[in-house]
Amino acid sequence: MFPDDRTCACYLSLLRWPDGFVCPSCKIASTPWNESRGRLTCPTCRHEASVTAGTIFDKTRTSLTTWFEGAWHVTTAKNGMSAKTLERTMGISYKVAWMMLHRFRVAMVNTERKQLSGNVEVDETYVYDEGPDGKRGRGTTKSIVAIAVEMMAPKGFGRVRMRYVPDASGKSLLPFVRDVVAPGSVVRTDGWKAYNRLPDYGYTREIVVLSSSGDPAHVSMPGVHRVSSLLKRWFLGTHQGSISPNHLQSYLEEYTFRFNRRTSKSRGLLFRRLLEQAVVTNPATMADIIHGYDWKSV
Ligand SMILES: [Zn+2]
Repeated sequence: MFPDDRTCACYLSLLRWPDGFVCPSCKIASTPWNESRGRLTCPTCRHEASVTAGTIFDKTRTSLTTWFEGAWHVTTAKNGMSAKTLERTMGISYKVAWMMLHRFRVAMVNTERKQLSGNVEVDETYVYDEGPDGKRGRGTTKSIVAIAVEMMAPKGFGRVRMRYVPDASGKSLLPFVRDVVAPGSVVRTDGWKAYNRLPDYGYTREIVVLSSSGDPAHVSMPGVHRVSSLLKRWFLGTHQGSISPNHLQSYLEEYTFRFNRRTSKSRGLLFRRLLEQAVVTNPATMADIIHGYDWKSV
């Protein structure tokens, strides 16, 4: 469907201006002339607008067809792709593949706006950081990831949300719950004191009592247990476990984007959704991406 950059730019302009192009300069609605590299010329005043300015595609030298192909792989492969695999599959440089994936992850976070509600399980899990030599094992540290999972009646899981937190204190965990779970929801947690103040914020806290005989986690907290084991499998399988703490949140966003759309029948819809977000997401700078994106600013 997208043989050249011009076709890609047309598609992006449809997503960006769903009600038709309106010239940013003379404000007249019209059908613009499509030039190369996503430039649109207003037929009335000849103002040159850019479909990619102010989006995640802004100022990249990578062609739009390459971006589109990357978006297609990311959304159609069941588990997404690592930069290494994308490099091999598309024949692009590792650097371009890596940057592209990180920009897509920034676009993915914007899709997760609506708070979870109803019955929600919340717990923390540990993931291992890569060591200084890129290997896990001795000398490596653990990162804590807070997970919230909507529990459906009579069974099954709804949506998830995840956050990399510095520690398991109330100061770290309560803001997470308040951001991602709607007040009035029933929040199931273990007996950890960090969650004691949940009722102050309008939640009904349900404490899961672990019997001394030790119910296995998949019985007492089936939602977070399942999601955390799938997440770890994804890290190890797709990404060979090499995830630095700087980028952990980015990966959690990608995982969440895919998990929350796991029942979507059409992969093409996922592709469209990602590009829809890409044209309304401000570009992340190279520094943002290298040093870890400031997710609170999104
Ligand atoms: Zn104009």
